[in-house]
Amino acid sequence: MAGQANQEPDLKTADPELYSLIRKEDARQKDSIRLIASENYASRAVLEATGTSLTNKYAEGYPGRRYYEGMDFVDPIEELAIRRAKALFGADHANVQPYSGSPANLAALLALCEPGDTILGMSLPAGGHLTHGWKISATGIYYHAVQYGVRESDNLMDMDQVRSLAREHRPKLIWAGHSAYPRTLDFAAFAEIAKEVGAYLAADIAHISGLVAGGVHPSPVPHADVVTTTTHKTLRGPRGGLILCRKKHRKAINKAVFPGLQGGPHNHSTAAKAVAFHEALQPEFKAYARQIIANAKALAEQLTARGLELVTGGTDNHLMLVNLTNRGLGGRHAAKVLNDCGVELNANAIPFDPRKPFDPSGLRIGVPSITSRGMTEAHMADVARFIDEGLQGAARVDPEGYTAAADFVAPLRARVQEFCGAFPAPGIA
Ligand SMILES: *Cc1c(COP(=O)(O)O)cnc(C)c1O
Repeated sequence: MAGQANQEPDLKTADPELYSLIRKEDARQKDSIRLIASENYASRAVLEATGTSLTNKYAEGYPGRRYYEGMDFVDPIEELAIRRAKALFGADHANVQPYSGSPANLAALLALCEPGDTILGMSLPAGGHLTHGWKISATGIYYHAVQYGVRESDNLMDMDQVRSLAREHRPKLIWAGHSAYPRTLDFAAFAEIAKEVGAYLAADIAHISGLVAGGVHPSPVPHADVVTTTTHKTLRGPRGGLILCRKKHRKAINKAVFPGLQGGPHNHSTAAKAVAFHEALQPEFKAYARQIIANAKALAEQLTARGLELVTGGTDNHLMLVNLTNRGLGGRHAAKVLNDCGVELNANAIPFDPRKPFDPSGLRIGVPSITSRGMTEAHMADVARFIDEGLQGAARVDPEGYTAAADFVAPLRARVQEFCGAFPAPGIA
């Protein structure tokens, strides 16, 4: 039988077309400076756990209470993931089954609210997430969403506005979280407002959970009823979601995830989450988290020194927003040109953006991926120079007629690729 198994073709043999696309993606991730703030490099160990026989198993239910047989190993794997998640964040309870961040947020709403209830969250254009009540999201369709933003004068989160909206609308639940806000969140202030109006507080730390786990951003766990997160952003795990909550919400959260929203958990992802939590519990992870903050500050300074304008003037976390208005550039053109030059980031709305969402005025830049590759403050001058040179090139060409054949692209791309060669990409090589 063993001989038979050995004759089973590997991916390269079984599906050369697909295999080749994956290898090209590996090379793309190795050869570019990846600055998309929500992305990272998962470790080889995390990737290995993802590609296992666990993908074959159905496990509806929770450890000890399943609807299928054969749970000898799946139960201890999920229990391990739960134990590690609780230890990592100091939480009463962890549900490790959410397929991703968006289903985790839906589960929190399903657990704590009735359809039609009022919820209060940060608006998408101000830096919030779709799932905090944006009108085209299920969270904005099935709930009555009221949205807060940032202050026009300094683009900082406006806790006075959050408080007055909460007093006026009496939401059942308040979201504290963001996808594009460069400053620290004051979870204690959110908790105080939630308490005053009798709302639940849900903290969504999808972007910053690695910073919270690493001790470089305050934790919402002591303040929030429920904390949701992805596991694949700064936390550097597999694609997936996680919900932490107070003991009193344990039953409601578990019921909301299964059977409320999902069927069988993705056991291979659960296992990979357990690996990522284990990695995040090691001392090296704290150093990684500290390095993210140091790199972001260094890159912000370097970009500012090159005349780029940063929303709020800088960053306290892993990301920054560049306002391209003073360069006469649109975000989409700038992001496309930079991508051709090997610098991968995304166009992003800035607060009170005068341009359209599809071609906004800003760029979002995050340092988790380059930090995972071992870059430090000393390398941020190079990264800033590559960005600046790409933007200068972008400003010289007409966005309509631009192609990657423009004269400055290939030389810059070659220099970026050579630079990247000095930093091994975790999980790839
Ligand atoms: C990324 C993100 C999510 C959604 O995660 P997915 O895994 O993409 O569904 C939810 N909330 C916030 C704040 C995010 O940044």
